[in-house]
Amino acid sequence: MPDAVSLIQLKRDNVRPLTAAEIGWLFAAYATGEVADEQMAALLMAIYFNGLTVAELRAWTGEMIASGDRLDLTGLTRPSVDKHSTGGVGDKVSLILAPLVASCGAAVPQLSGRGLGHTGGTLDKLESIPGWRAGLSNEELVAVLGRVGAVIAAAGAGLAPADRRLYALRDVTGTVESIPLIASSIMSKKIAEGTQALVLDVKTGSGAFMKQRERAVELARTMVVLGAEHGVRTRALVTRMDTPLGRAVGNAVEVEEAVQALRGEGPADLMEVTCALARAMLELAGLDADPRQAISSGRALDTYAAMIRAQGGDPDAPLPQAKHRREVLTAPSSGWLTRLDALAVGVAAWRLGAGRARKEDAVSHTAGVICLVKPGEYVRAGQAVLELRADDPARFGPATEALDAADVLAIGGEPPPEVPLVLDDVGALSP
Ligand code: URA
Repeated sequence: MPDAVSLIQLKRDNVRPLTAAEIGWLFAAYATGEVADEQMAALLMAIYFNGLTVAELRAWTGEMIASGDRLDLTGLTRPSVDKHSTGGVGDKVSLILAPLVASCGAAVPQLSGRGLGHTGGTLDKLESIPGWRAGLSNEELVAVLGRVGAVIAAAGAGLAPADRRLYALRDVTGTVESIPLIASSIMSKKIAEGTQALVLDVKTGSGAFMKQRERAVELARTMVVLGAEHGVRTRALVTRMDTPLGRAVGNAVEVEEAVQALRGEGPADLMEVTCALARAMLELAGLDADPRQAISSGRALDTYAAMIRAQGGDPDAPLPQAKHRREVLTAPSSGWLTRLDALAVGVAAWRLGAGRARKEDAVSHTAGVICLVKPGEYVRAGQAVLELRADDPARFGPATEALDAADVLAIGGEPPPEVPLVLDDVGALSP
């Protein structure tokens, strides 16, 4: 019979990998309280330093999935394919992608969490639409998927509940940034969701979780293998997150930009990432369709409107607007903007109220940042690069402080070289 202290010591001292039976015991004992939070936290720290072998990670993820329900999407007539992003600044891709890919014939079951920290959550963005609700029962969810083809909703408490507890523990013990722990956390939820295929957008750069590209690729590979092992065809694109995606960062402002994109008027960088992910999703779903044509024909926008209506929202209602606006970050000289730091802009939007510091906090629907100038565009000396928006003008001070550092923006004598946003494609493995 294993015991928690021995398992912690085995992992701490790298004596040998834990067996599947030991990991199974650990999760069962943690669920009953026999293994205490402090013991699990010590084990998580040992994993943070010593990692998990492939076999350990397989068993660990399997236990996370088995801790709750697995949605049954086998009754759908369309092939199911989902997308998950590790989170970026101005990342409203899901709002565009779900209806876009659905309008090409797939079923897109997007079960999301809420944003924490400087990257926004998809549900927080959609909740700025009057009437829209994130909470659907499993039956409602499957019904909307069948009828509309796309649903973006809150992941129910029944999906991978062990992850919920472990994530809360990792959050307060400095053990979030571990590749096997992140991979098992993300993949257990996506596998439990019941999708047949999955495309991951693993962000790298200043505004991402994974600052270094090599670490992002390693995370991508780890998740692709886990997906394949659990019968989910998985592919990951590693994409740049050095500067905000599109111009809008916040909630209602991002919904507005996503709708523009669905009308065919989206900014080039946002469309590049969205279309690359859409093509990868359609390929995995076995559908031969052109995402750009789905947008130009209006089909994607119609599906978006149906998706919002199906969850009580009014896609035609005006979105809430901030009471106050302030232009900031003036260019010190004329030239080409070569850098606009994603993290600084994300933190500014967060301090304006667009994001939350603790998971129980409410977010402001109207707060956000608009990038008036983006890297690659010309700016004149004295011209403002950003516009801040908030209902509470007291928020402008702390938000502006986030933009004080010297390296938030750079201006050069020539336009910066055009660089592709998709850096790596970690291809699908057959399950
Ligand atoms: N997102 C998750 O769902 N889990 C992690 O561990 C990190 C990011």
